[in-house]
Amino acid sequence: MAHVARKRFGQHFLCDRSVIEAIASAIDPKPGELLVEIGPGLAALTDALLRRVPTLTAIEIDRDLAARLRRRYGDRLELIEADVLAVDLRALAAQRRMRLVGNLPYNISSPLLVRLLDFRDCVADQHFMLQKEVVDRIVSAHGCAAYGRLGVLLQAYYEVEALFDVPPEAFDPPPRVDSAVVRMLPRQQPPELEPPVLSELLAAAFGKRRKMLRGTLLPWLAARGVDAQTLIEPTARAEDVPVEVYVELASRLRSQRL
Ligand code: SAM
Repeated sequence: MAHVARKRFGQHFLCDRSVIEAIASAIDPKPGELLVEIGPGLAALTDALLRRVPTLTAIEIDRDLAARLRRRYGDRLELIEADVLAVDLRALAAQRRMRLVGNLPYNISSPLLVRLLDFRDCVADQHFMLQKEVVDRIVSAHGCAAYGRLGVLLQAYYEVEALFDVPPEAFDPPPRVDSAVVRMLPRQQPPELEPPVLSELLAAAFGKRRKMLRGTLLPWLAARGVDAQTLIEPTARAEDVPVEVYVELASRLRSQRL
């Protein structure tokens, strides 16, 4: 029976063969790797991946789709029928680092990307299809309009690269927005800093992003015992400050608390 796309699960199924192949080629999976697909849906990408590797792990919330996937792939697919936001990915990666892939449900993409930071030490890489606007935010450098909290937070821990754009017609039903594929590699030498400390600092900096930092972040930091005068021009705005400077400030904030 044909599956009717469920809006609440952000279901837009990829149907353009060339896009599916382009994603699978970008991932370029090899037998023996621990490949974990988030939201396999009707298996467009799953199928392309399983032509390259013997087995795959997948996490799907939709019970009907999970049943279909089990019937279709049997032992070749280790299927976890669950909300990915509630899955302990660390338990999956007992022996090997995971390669995370997926055409993500756009309604949960930002909280999911933030949650995945908790597992960054057990991830080899991540390839995700997201709303193009979110990919722009993830890869933007300081000084760009799209530069903001999500981009700084993710760039602190990953090297990020926008790979290619995907138009709405590549999906059924087509989403109302353009999409893009992003690659994220955990940094070799990530900051020794818990993401929530950096998040808190970024909320203080970008909360009023058009204001100069001398009226927002600098007093906020001073009240917490951190002198940032040498690192930040008082007339700068949140979007002018590079990722490394935010990381340094968050590290100082953290050491004040220890
Ligand atoms: N990968 C398929 C494709 O490319 O055609 C489907 C992509 S569709 C945009 C998102 C998929 O994620 C759907 O299969 C949906 O049921 C699943 N999904 C949505 N929310 C989820 C969640 N919280 N946890 C796991 N899977 C979820």
